[in-house]
Amino acid sequence: MKVVGDDCKLTPYWWDHVPRPAIPEVEPPGIVDVAIIGSGYTGLHAALQTTRGGKSTAVFDAEDAGWGCSTRNGGQISTSIKPSYEQLAKRHGPQRACDILKEGQRSLEFVNEFVAAERIDCDLRRVGRFHAAHNAAQYEALARRTANLPKGLEADAQMVPRSEQRSEIGTDVYWGGAVYPQHCAIDPARYHQGLLGRAQAAGAQIVPRSAVTRLDRDGVGFRLTTARGTVRARDVVVATNGYTGRSTPWLQRRVIPIGSYMIATEPLAADLIARLMPKGRIVTDTRKVVYYYRLSPDRRRILFGGRVSHDETDPRVSAPLLHRDMVNVFPELAQTRVTHSWMGFIAYTFDEIMHVGKHDGVHYAMGYCGSGVGAASYFGMRIGQQVLGRAEGRTALDGLAFQTRPFYTGKPWFLAASIRYYRWRDRRPV
Ligand SMILES: Cc1cc2nc3c(=O)[nH]c(=O)nc-3n(C[C@H](O)[C@H](O)[C@H](O)COP(=O)(O)OP(=O)(O)OC[C@H]3O[C@@H](n4cnc5c(N)ncnc54)[C@H](O)[C@@H]3O)c2cc1C
Repeated sequence: MKVVGDDCKLTPYWWDHVPRPAIPEVEPPGIVDVAIIGSGYTGLHAALQTTRGGKSTAVFDAEDAGWGCSTRNGGQISTSIKPSYEQLAKRHGPQRACDILKEGQRSLEFVNEFVAAERIDCDLRRVGRFHAAHNAAQYEALARRTANLPKGLEADAQMVPRSEQRSEIGTDVYWGGAVYPQHCAIDPARYHQGLLGRAQAAGAQIVPRSAVTRLDRDGVGFRLTTARGTVRARDVVVATNGYTGRSTPWLQRRVIPIGSYMIATEPLAADLIARLMPKGRIVTDTRKVVYYYRLSPDRRRILFGGRVSHDETDPRVSAPLLHRDMVNVFPELAQTRVTHSWMGFIAYTFDEIMHVGKHDGVHYAMGYCGSGVGAASYFGMRIGQQVLGRAEGRTALDGLAFQTRPFYTGKPWFLAASIRYYRWRDRRPV
């Protein structure tokens, strides 16, 4: 029996129950207060702020609404800031480091408060995250980092030694790990669907299948050339993250698109699920080339993600490779079939942190480095407030230099070599 058959769907598991919305193909408005490029979490949260703040707002997407990462992701919500306190303090000083990390904590709480306030039915649960150490040195480093956080940033984390690991996860491949009980799981596509509905109800005009191909200055505002005609806008927000393209070259030079790949298994027996993931937590590991996985909201399948090739590849090719890596963790799944395989482009940055701000009058929020469910929501909301000129829109990330590298134009020619290097580093025992 083939574990990845010809009937394996090459679309996100989430799209089975939340198909891409059929928004009529309308003419874009000739003039708006705010034009937003990208209809994922960033764009829609920005739109919600600007429409509710009284600004006419149009949201453009090159594809269907939410076609990007926001309906393809693993639905894991953590505190989203990748660099450690020490790394941030070295670069930006101790106070700024604290402020940046607190923004990450706020992003997690923001999604919880938003979903509750707007009554969005999207299986948001505080299941907690098990962050698994892939070797003994990483376990020690994790324990040290968890114990030594500065005042005000103490994480509610519990170390789980290898001897007790099976209470968290049905495998012996890890060296223990840390549990973060505050972290959450969500159905990303239902969340996006609810958010889209709120943005539309507030008056945002969604213009799907309408790529913005040029962005030019036009007096005090901008002129956007789209696949459906020209639009003038006083303000523009670029919310294109891993799909940032040629119409915004300054931003394209600052984000590194990287494919992240996922599979969904067929439904599993309840006793097997109870053995493999007894607490139903979301799981990540300490590898640089990380694996992440979780149960489906109905607790019947495992959704397993990561990166399995050096160059970008096809979801048909990544499916058996991800299955192989899943079986390394859970040998009991050797005969389990894969029903869905898909991918999307996340946006990395050269300093491994998201960026929020304004360049040449154009607002942007992007570069979530693979952790954008909470962060894109929160910083999308903040950039919307910045467009309105509101003081609460300020963030600890404002004004951080958004780095690029010489000769980098948006095509990451160095990616395969970097992945090779990080994989080699991940295999070392220290
Ligand atoms: C497989 C996978 C798993 C992930 N898992 C997690 C996870 O578990 N937890 C987590 O926190 N994060 C995860 N992420 C990352 C997270 O999904 C993203 O960081 C987040 O969704 C980014 O949202 P966004 O709105 O900024 O961008 P996106 O949702 O990617 O939206 C950008 C949109 O811009 C549109 N666009 C681009 N160019 C143009 C143009 N010129 N004109 C008009 N439209 C344009 C695109 O069509 C796209 O729809 C994952 C990502 C992937 C791919």
